Amino acid sequence: QEDPSFWKDNNVQVVIRVRPLSSSEISVQGEKRCVRQDSGQSITWTCHPESRFTFDLVADEHITQESLFKVAGVPMVENCMAGYNSCMFAYGQTGSGKTHTMLGDIENGTRRNNENCGMTPRVFEHLFLRIQKEKEIRRDEKLSFTCKCSFLEIYNEQILDLLNPNATNLQLREDAKRGMHVENLTEHEVSNAREALQQLIEGAANRKVASTNMNRASSRSHSVFTCLIESKWESQGIKHHRFSHLNLVDLAGSERQKSSGAEGERLKEASNINKSLSTLGHVITSLIAVSNKKSQHVPYRDSKLTFLLQDSLGGNSKTTIIANISPSSCCAAETLSTLKFAQRAKHI
Ligand code: ADP
Ligand code: MG
Repeated sequence: QEDPSFWKDNNVQVVIRVRPLSSSEISVQGEKRCVRQDSGQSITWTCHPESRFTFDLVADEHITQESLFKVAGVPMVENCMAGYNSCMFAYGQTGSGKTHTMLGDIENGTRRNNENCGMTPRVFEHLFLRIQKEKEIRRDEKLSFTCKCSFLEIYNEQILDLLNPNATNLQLREDAKRGMHVENLTEHEVSNAREALQQLIEGAANRKVASTNMNRASSRSHSVFTCLIESKWESQGIKHHRFSHLNLVDLAGSERQKSSGAEGERLKEASNINKSLSTLGHVITSLIAVSNKKSQHVPYRDSKLTFLLQDSLGGNSKTTIIANISPSSCCAAETLSTLKFAQRAKHI
């Protein structure tokens, strides 16, 4: 089921995606690059001192949305069908290609007629195909599924409902029945990929409006699209019941927030954005330490993002990080910092 060459026995997979040089980068630095790809798994940062990094996959600027989906998205859906919770994060500085990777062009339908559509709509299509197939195979067990979608944004450590923009500052709650969840968050039941895509398009539009109205860049917020999948079946007279979460996350830009000169709200905002991203790094690092029995504590509670996703990070869940980078010399420092983050996630 799982692609063994990609997942191996590890629960965290790290992919680097190098985007093409942009025309503005070319106008400043020409074709001058700060990275050289050595193989499908390895990349070298070519400034001084040269540093080489190894990952599960290094995808160059020519990789298509379709191919990236096949490598990283299909296994994610397969994991979900096998009952694992899973998360995919797009990490990287603003402009590195996170939204291109996670959403791409979503306005013009899904992949049959649009090769630019990104990971999330492709995940929907594959998910519903697999659900249909599974129902047919396991008809005797009366297998049924329900899929509920939600879409939220975390900005300045506050949660906004992207499917109901009037609801702001929602609260995280934990209880025995539902585990960790966001109180009063809109959940729409969807029965096919088209309905799920509709929610995605609506939420993405609300994200734009919210950022315009509040006079801020969406690059400073994290967005989380969640599918909650419930399956029920019977075998040997016993009723079974299972939940799994699939989370698709477009993170805030990882560039250092300029806090010099910022005051009040701006300063708080800058430090909160760093907090969610740095906590995510600490959580991933601690998870690896826990699995090596070097540590017990995972600091999920230190940020809204990691607290929300705690049931989908660690334990019996699968995490994919797609670290997006620009190859241009203009971005050398941020590209190095992203490679280092991704390396920590992979190795420590
Ligand atoms: P981010 O979300 O990280 O800020 P975007 O996804 O908005 O970055 O990408 C910035 C620009 O670069 C967009 O115009 C996008 O279409 C383009 N881009 C990013 N990645 C690629 C890619 N792999 N191929 C072609 N264009 C890309
Ligand atoms: Mg973006």
